[in-house]
Amino acid sequence: MNETDSVDKVKLFDEKGLRLDGRRVDELRPFKLEVGSLSRADGSAYIEHGRNKILAAVYGPRELHPRHRAIADRALLRVTYRMGTFSVGERKRPAPSRREHEISMVIRQALEPMLFLEMYPRAAIDVFIQVLEADGGSRCASTTVASVALANAGIPMRGLVTGVAVGKAGGKLLVDLSDLEDKVGEADVPIAMAFGRGKYTLLQMDGKLSKDELAKSLEMIEGAIEKIYEKQQHVLREGFIQIREEIGESEEPSSEDEGDGPDTEIPGADTESTESD
Ligand code: ADP
Repeated sequence: MNETDSVDKVKLFDEKGLRLDGRRVDELRPFKLEVGSLSRADGSAYIEHGRNKILAAVYGPRELHPRHRAIADRALLRVTYRMGTFSVGERKRPAPSRREHEISMVIRQALEPMLFLEMYPRAAIDVFIQVLEADGGSRCASTTVASVALANAGIPMRGLVTGVAVGKAGGKLLVDLSDLEDKVGEADVPIAMAFGRGKYTLLQMDGKLSKDELAKSLEMIEGAIEKIYEKQQHVLREGFIQIREEIGESEEPSSEDEGDGPDTEIPGADTESTESD
């Protein structure tokens, strides 16, 4: 759909310039995050982001099957993103689609740079992501929740990865596109960032944005990423406090670990940001 069609046929803004759900152009949809949602997984987390409802389960590091896929000097990270047949308006065909394969791959690529896979030669780390309800931006919300599930599994990480999409619809740059804005808009740019390290680990573009618009989008998205990132840290910290209480430990975490090594006290949480909270 071109720009004129999207503006003429679908009303995306009210008379005050607010989006259909009442948001400003740079505002996130409401989101909720929890850890340890599944008892059998080594780590798990659940996110509601807008109407996206997504569960992530992590198993491993564990023995890799089939063995011939083992990598001699590091672990193999496997990410499986699947949408339930009931997750979208029209029943989704149950067989994994090309889209699901592609999204599994980009989420893996978004997470991989933050993991110390070399600590687990020949092992597998499996991340299963199940979309219960999809509402636009599901790959970004999946990256956010998978990162928390990995930290919840105690997998050493350089930092958390946080995803959110930016794009253009009705001629305006918008943060965190809804399903409708994604479908009728001119551009959708899913982004994931290792916020604590200031590094992008995912940047895709569907549609067109000028160079200036892309630069502006990256500026607009920082506040939204920071907000989700703080929530990721918060729920992980709460989870660890609860475990410490359950095992009767009362010590405060030390903040000595500032190098490139794994975050030992709170896996996944960047030490520099942990201190400011
Ligand atoms: P993302 O969810 O990361 O934005 P897409 O841009 O491919 O990925 O999809 C946008 C939205 O389109 C999804 O979040 C979902 O709401 C919807 N969608 C995706 N696949 C299907 C499908 N097979 N049937 C109906 N809706 C779908």
